Amino acid sequence: MIDRASLQANFTAVEGRVAAACLKAGRPRESVTLIAVSKLHPSEVIRLGWELGQRDFGENYAQELRDKHAGLAECAGLRWHAIGPVQPKNAKYVAKAAFLFHALERLEVAQELSKRRVGAPLKCLIEVNVAGEASKAGIAPTELAAFIEAVRALPQLEVVGLTAMPPISEDPEASRPHFKALRELASQHGISQLSMGTTGDFEVAIEEGATLVRVGTAIFGHRPT
Ligand SMILES: *Cc1c(COP(=O)(O)O)cnc(C)c1O
Repeated sequence: MIDRASLQANFTAVEGRVAAACLKAGRPRESVTLIAVSKLHPSEVIRLGWELGQRDFGENYAQELRDKHAGLAECAGLRWHAIGPVQPKNAKYVAKAAFLFHALERLEVAQELSKRRVGAPLKCLIEVNVAGEASKAGIAPTELAAFIEAVRALPQLEVVGLTAMPPISEDPEASRPHFKALRELASQHGISQLSMGTTGDFEVAIEEGATLVRVGTAIFGHRPT
């Protein structure tokens, strides 16, 4: 588990890179939210991050989110981002805990989330399979319009953006055309939030308009296996 000094140093380094990318892109720093992706890391690490001032955390797995949300309930202001696709039977955990859901890609899940959500509608981003990868989750760009329309009919969900996970590559520039494509799709559909960019490519994502970047390894180190 990472210690406080290393975590502080990592946050400072990542924050510096986010700020530099914003400057280069001519964007205000506040236009980008840094999400610290804490999946598979223990709750103690999240608490340390919260003590250092970080408020947005990303989790992939619904049951892990459920447990961490319950265990860290006293961390005031902590916002949970559910960033991975979920099974319909686990949608209730996301409906309860999430501030934003980044990986909506099945109507069945959307229906379950809307049914289970109490209070304000859950803000959702639709995951788009920008590169058309057979192995990947996400809505095909050609099916996006119909999917958005179907989700907009659900009372307890609000579509606020799109998410992309481009093919893994060593070269951050390889992600750029996919980020561009996501931005164009969002603009065509009149939605403003763009969740794109991870440790390997978040600066490129910011240059291409990301409003939410999901950074795990550069903040917490390698995930325990
Ligand atoms: C794990 C994960 C991340 C973080 O990836 P890093 O390379 O560790 O920054 C971002 N987004 C999603 C959807 C993830 O599953």
